[in-house]
Amino acid sequence: MADESKKCKHPSCSCTVSGDDDYCSEYCRNARDTMEIGCDCRHQPCE
Ligand SMILES: [Zn+2]
Ligand SMILES: [Zn+2]
Repeated sequence: MADESKKCKHPSCSCTVSGDDDYCSEYCRNARDTMEIGCDCRHQPCE
């Protein structure tokens, strides 16, 4: 698998995720059912 970096599945999140996780943080995992305008995961790309 050459795909080491993929985007977080949260629509408003710009973070990249490595590994098997679909989300960069618990915030994004919990927000998947909510249509957020911005991401509040506090990672650098989303600040
Ligand atoms: Zn984010
Ligand atoms: Zn995220």
